[in-house]
Formats: sequence, structure tokens, C-alpha cells
Amino acid sequence: MILLPCPNCGPRDEGEFTYGGPQRQLPSLDGQSGTDDWLKALFHPQNPRGPMVELWYHASGCEAWIEVTRDTGTHEIIDVATNRLRDDKQ
Ligand SMILES: [Zn+2]
Repeated sequence: MILLPCPNCGPRDEGEFTYGGPQRQLPSLDGQSGTDDWLKALFHPQNPRGPMVELWYHASGCEAWIEVTRDTGTHEIIDVATNRLRDDKQ
């Protein structure tokens, strides 16, 4: 069990959340990125052991997307922030 500290609701069980995957760096839209760059970004995300920023949706709570920096090896929650890009309540 992972206890996720929602910035709006406080600590909650991970079962209240929907996992949105790792936060990704997408290629630029300026025409400099090719098909291989997009394929790599969309279908071959990094899977590091250690700190990684993930997106979680608090479906059974405030319905906000949050960014969780979590150590994938120990499950330690390092940082939590409201996701400004995907949260339509802001
Ligand atoms: Zn919440």
C-alpha cells in the first residue's frame, strides 16, 4: 500500500487514485523532432530505479491530477504538487 499525500485532501490510500503514468518529456513541435523521437517518447518511457515524477488522478477525492515524485525502488514519496497542465479546476 502506498499512502499518497494529496495536496487538497491530505494522505490517502493509492486505491483512491488512478495512475497516469510517468511524466514525460515530449519532443518539441517546432518540426525538429522526427518520428523516432515521438515513438521513443510515447512507447518507450524511461523506467528508472530511483526518483521519478508520476501523474496520479484523485478519482475518489478532489478529482485533481497531482505530480508525485516517488522513489521507484523504495516507494518513498519525495514531493507532491498539483499538476497545472492537466488539472482543469485551476
Ligand atoms: Zn485529493
